[in-house]
Amino acid sequence: MLTGKNAIVTGSTSGIGLAIAHTLAGKGCNILFNGFGDKAAIDKLVTDTASEFKVKTAYSGADMSKPEQIADMVSVCEKTFGSCDILVNNAGIQFTARIEEFPLEKWDAIIAINLSSAFHAVKAALPGMQKKGFGRIINIASVHGLVASQNKSAYVAAKHGIVGLTKVIALENAEANITCNAICPGWVRTPLVEKQIEDKAKKEGTSVKEAADNLLGEKQPNKRFINPENIGAMIAFLCDEHGMSMTGEIITMDGGWVAE
Ligand code: NAD
Repeated sequence: MLTGKNAIVTGSTSGIGLAIAHTLAGKGCNILFNGFGDKAAIDKLVTDTASEFKVKTAYSGADMSKPEQIADMVSVCEKTFGSCDILVNNAGIQFTARIEEFPLEKWDAIIAINLSSAFHAVKAALPGMQKKGFGRIINIASVHGLVASQNKSAYVAAKHGIVGLTKVIALENAEANITCNAICPGWVRTPLVEKQIEDKAKKEGTSVKEAADNLLGEKQPNKRFINPENIGAMIAFLCDEHGMSMTGEIITMDGGWVAE
C-alpha cells in the first residue's frame, strides 16, 4: 500500500495518466492531478477520486511547456499535501509528418512537453525528496524511446531523450533512496492514438476497426492494445517497498514490439 504518500501525475485528465492516478489512489496515495480539459469535468474527477478512494486530491493546471508553471505545480503539491513523494512525468502530445514538412512550432512543443517538462519537474521535486530521504520518479517514455517509426521525428527524439534522462536521474540519486525508472508502452488506445487510427483509416480508405487492427498488426505482436491499468500497476509496484532496488530501468510494456 502507498497510504500517506503524495503523488503528482502530469497529464492525468485523460488516457494513461488518468489510469495511473486512479491506480495510485486505489493504493491510498494522495493525488495532484494535472492536465487540460473541461473545468467542470476536471472538478468532478478531482472530487470523485477523493470520495471513491478516500484520499486527498488536488489539481494544478500547469502547462508542461512552461518551466515556471511546472515548478509551481511541485510547490502546490508540497504545500497542499506536505511533500511530493512520487512524481509521474506522463503528459505528452503527438504530431506526425516527414521532417521536410514538420512545423517548427510542433517540434518545439513536443520537445518541451514530452522531454523538457520532466527535467523541470524533477529539478523542482528533488530537493524535497532528498530532504525526506524518499522519492519515486517514473517517466512515461514509449517504445519510441528505444526504436523509431517514420514521421515521428520530434516524438522519437523526445522519448529517446527521456530514456537517457531517466538513467542520469537514477545515477545521481542512487544512494538517496530516490529511484527513477522509465516505462515504454506500445500502443495504448487513448485519445492520442485514436487520432492516429482515424488518420490511418482516412489515408488507407478503411474502417476505423480495420485501421486499428492494421496498426496493431504492423508493430505489436500480441495484437492487443496495452491496458493503461497495467501501466498503473507497474508504477504502484515501483513505488512500493519491493520496487526499491529498481532504478535506471527502462521497462517495456509493448506486447513484444521491441522484441522483434
Ligand atoms: P492523452 O492524449 O490521452 O493524454 C495526454 C494528457 O497530457 C492529457 O491529460 C492532456 O491534457 C495532457 N497534456 C497535454 N499537453 C499538456 C501540457 N502542455 N501541459 C499539461 N498537460 C498536458 O495521451 P496518452 O496516450 O494517455 O499519453 C500519455 C503519455 O503516454 C504521453 O507521454 C505519451 O507519449 C505516452 N505514450 C502513449 C502511448 C499510447 O499508445 N497512447 C504509447 C506510449 C507512450
